[in-house]
Order: sequence, then C-alpha cells, then structure tokens
Amino acid sequence: LSEQRQSEQRLLERREGSFATVQGHYYSAPPRIERGWRHHLASTEGRSYLDIVNNVAAVGHAHPRIEEAVTRQLRRLNTNSRFHYSSVVEFSERLAGLLPDPLDTVFLVNSGSEAVDLALRLAIGATGQHDVVALREAYHGWTYASDAVSTSIADNPNALTSRPDWVHTLDSPNSYRGRHRGPQASRYAPEAVHAIAELAASGRPPGAFLAESYYGNAGGVPLPTGYLAEVYAEVRRHGGLAVADEIQVGYGRLGNWFWGFEQQQVVPDIVCVAKAIGNGHPLGAVVTSRAIAERYRDQGYFFSSTGGSPVSSTVGLTVLDILRDEDLQGNALRSGALLKSGLQALGERHPIVGTVHGSGLYLGLELVRDRQSLEPATEETAELCDRMLELGVVVQPTGDHLNILKIKPPLCIDAAAVTFFTATLDRALTELGH
Ligand code: PMP
Repeated sequence: LSEQRQSEQRLLERREGSFATVQGHYYSAPPRIERGWRHHLASTEGRSYLDIVNNVAAVGHAHPRIEEAVTRQLRRLNTNSRFHYSSVVEFSERLAGLLPDPLDTVFLVNSGSEAVDLALRLAIGATGQHDVVALREAYHGWTYASDAVSTSIADNPNALTSRPDWVHTLDSPNSYRGRHRGPQASRYAPEAVHAIAELAASGRPPGAFLAESYYGNAGGVPLPTGYLAEVYAEVRRHGGLAVADEIQVGYGRLGNWFWGFEQQQVVPDIVCVAKAIGNGHPLGAVVTSRAIAERYRDQGYFFSSTGGSPVSSTVGLTVLDILRDEDLQGNALRSGALLKSGLQALGERHPIVGTVHGSGLYLGLELVRDRQSLEPATEETAELCDRMLELGVVVQPTGDHLNILKIKPPLCIDAAAVTFFTATLDRALTELGH
C-alpha cells in the first residue's frame, strides 16, 4: 500500500508541475478517481464515494446510453456545423422546444463560459448598448466577458474592485443573509430598478441584465418573489435585454421547474445553458429569439468548430432522451423533497445548521456559528467536507463565505443514497461537536 501511496503522491506532484489551475483541486490529498457509476465515484484505492457535487453528470456517471451513442457517432462522422447533418437540427429543435416563445433560435458552443460570453455579445450587438448589469456573489465563467461579470469573492477576493467599467453590480438579493432579510427581501427589486434607472440617466443604459434565475452560486437561494419580473421590465424599458444563466440550475434539477426562470414567472430574452446538457461532454447553448439572433448578424461573427458537432449534438439528444425516459426531473422532485426534509431534521439536532436553501436537487445547507448573527461557519464547513470525504461522501462549500454545502448530485440519486448522505452528515456533525 505504501508503494501505491507514493505513486499517488508522485502523480499529484506531476499534476501540480504540468497542469495549470487557478482554483487548484479539491482536498489536500485527493483520492484518485478513475471510475464513476450513476451517483457513485470509485478511487484507485478501491473506495467508493457518494457524489453529492456533480451537477455536470446530471444523468449519472458512465451512462451506457451515452457511451453507445457516442461510440456509434464517432465511428461514423464527427465534423463541424457548417456541414449539413441531422443531429444538429434535431438537437436545436428539441432544445428550442423546451423553451417558451419567442426563444426559438439556438447557438451551440462548448461550455458555460462560452455561452455567457456569447449571450453578452448578442445583447450588446443587438442593442448597441455596451454596459452590463450583474448580481454580486455570482459566477458566470472564465472568458473575458463572463469573467468580467463574475463577482463572487470566494472565487476572486478582488472581484468587486477589479471589474471593468462596463460592468455594474447589484446587491446580492439574498433573503437569508443579505442586507434585506425575510419579508424585507421585497426591497431588493425596487433598489435594483432604481440603480438601473440611475445608470440609464447617467447616459449608460445597460445592454444586458444577467443573473442566475435561481441563485445557485449563493447556495441555491431563490430570488425574492417578483424580483426578475421587476428588474427585467426596467432593463427592457431602457432598451436592454434580460439574460438568464441557467447553467447550474436549469434542465430539470429544480424538480418543480425545468428552468429557474419559471419559478420567477418570467421569460428571458436570452438563455444560457451548459453543464447538464452534455453530461460532462463539452456542450453549451445560447437560446434566443430569431429577431435578436438576426440583429447580431451584422454586428459580429459566430462560428464554433466543435460546438454542435455530430458527436456533441448526439450527446445532447441522448441526455434529453434519458431525462425523459428515466423521469429525472420527477426524481429531482421526489428525491429532492426527501433530501430537504432529512437536512431540515438535522437542523433540529445540530445548532450549526442555519437553514436549508433550494429546490429539488439543487440544495444548500448553510452553516452558521450563531443563528441570530448568522456568523458564517467557514472553517467548520471545510472541516466537515474533509470528514465527509473520509466517511465516503464528496461534498463541497459554496457562497461568498464558503459556509454552504452545495448539494447538487446527479439527478439519478436514489432514496438509499439520500438516507446514507443525511445519516453520514449527522454522524460527522456529531463527531465534530456541532
Ligand atoms: N455560469 C454558472 C452559473 C456556472 O456555475 C458556471 C460553472 N461553474 C459557468 C457559468 C461556467 O461554465 P463552464 O465551467 O462550463 O465554462
């Protein structure tokens, strides 16, 4: 075993020597994961882990239908979307069919960052307005434009002081720990409306307002009732467009709604999708109206060598088939409800549990040192994640204070795994004296 440990250590050192990451890897001594199955991961040491974080592998790890479809397609053809083949047409139609009118035109890219970048370019191109309004405590990607609108200080401590001047941020409309809490959260929308009106009055009407339509990065916090309706209306009043980032929360994960914006009863002008749509294969999409897409035509260029390739489109179609055939949105609703009530029950025994955010299989367990002051239990959350790994569960923190366990497992998670997860959390919280 010690020989194996040494060889694992050498591989980790080689990773650090050759592979550029800014965020680094999870855990100081991460297990080497070379296999996955449904909502389970297996290490080279022969341990299995319950995967609570992988919203990318939405239909589960190593799904045989995806493996078969990709293999078949790779044997036949893989090329770019300037060629004419059926899968890109079928996938674009299926995706557009999942969105309300007038969202009928699909751009296929390779990631969420690209989708957000393109969405902002579409909005700026179509409106001729170069300013963008985004929320604080948000993450939207790493490309030039998507990074510019990423404001989470957990990812970048200088995020709020280093945004380019075309980016304007609004208060994180967090009804749990933001400036306005509980019923007072209804104040966020009029304040946002006021800020947008002031921006327009200063001669900089925004071309786009961008937000996750259910606040994933902040821990799965729903936006206050009516928030997007009011803010979208104000942005549109000044000629701008409403852009929804559905990259984390969309595609059935919320259980009750396929898209986060449905919870807010709005229809965005541009929707960004990624992660779940490719189940780990690089695939992202921007969906908008024909009119907005047409206006962009004489403003900019779009072509992606691999976006919407025959293989990517086949993956996209197969993921949609699996979501439907395995009723995974229904499972998100059912398993999510079981999970949420299990986590809420933990709150009765463990004072560190502040609240449980979220819907379906996008939940956030917020840990606080004091339920009145809401002092974030940041170190305790990190310690808890380390202990959970030892006990066979992969779970990680999110939010600006890294004190919220992000709970977003593959959508196929079952009741046995949910019970194991809550029992293991109970045990770890007890052991750590919380
Ligand atoms: N938007 C949101 C809300 C995200 O969570 C992420 C990824 N964490 C992105 C955009 C960027 O997606 P990608 O990593 O595929 O570029």
